[in-house]
Amino acid sequence: MNVTHLFCSACGEKYEPNKLYNLCVCGKPLLVAYDLETAAKTLTKESLASRTATLWRYEEVLPVVNKQNQLSLGEGWTPLHKAEKLAAKYDLPNLYIKDEGINPTQSFKARGMALAVSMAKELGIKKVAAPSAGNAAGALSAYAALAGMECHIFVPQDTPKAFIVECEVLGASVNLVDGLIHDCGRIVGERKEKEGWFDVSTLKEPYRIEGKKTMGYELAEQMNWTLPDVILYPTGGGTGLVGMWKAFDEMEQMGWIDSKRPRMVVVQADGCAPIVKAFEQNLNHGVDIPDAHTVASGLRVPKAIGDFILLDILQKSNGIGVSVSDEDLVAGAREIGANEGIFAAPEGGALLAAMKKLLNDGWIKQDETVVLFNTGSGVKYLEAFEN
Ligand SMILES: *Cc1c(COP(=O)(O)O)cnc(C)c1O
Ligand SMILES: [Zn+2]
Repeated sequence: MNVTHLFCSACGEKYEPNKLYNLCVCGKPLLVAYDLETAAKTLTKESLASRTATLWRYEEVLPVVNKQNQLSLGEGWTPLHKAEKLAAKYDLPNLYIKDEGINPTQSFKARGMALAVSMAKELGIKKVAAPSAGNAAGALSAYAALAGMECHIFVPQDTPKAFIVECEVLGASVNLVDGLIHDCGRIVGERKEKEGWFDVSTLKEPYRIEGKKTMGYELAEQMNWTLPDVILYPTGGGTGLVGMWKAFDEMEQMGWIDSKRPRMVVVQADGCAPIVKAFEQNLNHGVDIPDAHTVASGLRVPKAIGDFILLDILQKSNGIGVSVSDEDLVAGAREIGANEGIFAAPEGGALLAAMKKLLNDGWIKQDETVVLFNTGSGVKYLEAFEN
């Protein structure tokens, strides 16, 4: 509502509010800026008590102008689960799981797509398209159906069946691509102009981040306006990380939290760890991954366009990157399931495996508050759990 302008995350170039955008002219992602002083007049901590249990409770710091364009299937306001049994097992009393698998279409992609499609609706778009490794496609299909838009999905041929069936049932046109997600992205890029599609690829569209940032607002609200010491986040394109970091800054500017930040942990799979490797090598861009592979399809993003932002966040937060094997991440999901009753996505399972490494290394201390962002549900990944 209170958008003043958009600006480039790399060159700082400014753009007018209330318009659709893809990347900056320099080729890097755009971010949304708000008049937070005005937002904070009505968006008060007290006012939140009586608001809707969806991400739209933070509407003053979201870009949609007209309330009628707020598409909703119940996204956001997911439980912050106190993981008592895992806490006891690892002697880590303040361990929490933010369970994003509860979202519509069973992943946190619903947050980003709710915003991107709402903005597209507000600005008159009739057709949307996106490449996806899985969950983004389902979420886009759902919100496009709600908005009455045509939806074109491009997924790698070997994407688990549940994702493909889901999109088809939600009315999308699904295209299987012989390649990886960046190949899918290239096809969308090549065809979009001729077909009249609006491209909602990760970070190539500025409003998905605004939806994902609500994870940061919710976390603070659910923790009574404190933040944890450590956040573990399964990182593909990294929208959630960029979004949460942005939310922390906005909340500080509104006087809701202080300047203390969690140490952010980028968790990736051994078969596709461009950010973890870049962090270890002290680079400011992701390393090339020629043969990206992992059953955690959300982590199979060999080239993230916001890589430099993710590496900057790791540095600023005194964070770290950790990669884990597919075997360990599936075992992690089983362990979360059997102990906490949450059927986590393999991406979520990766966090437990990473947490164990960081506990062993002494990087996480036993008295610290730790939050694992289980970004999706395991139900769409049955193949990964079969053997
Ligand atoms: C997409 C996805 C991720 C990665 O999210 P990014 O914001 O692209 O880093 C992680 N987990 C699941 C389940 C996903 O669907
Ligand atoms: Zn720029």
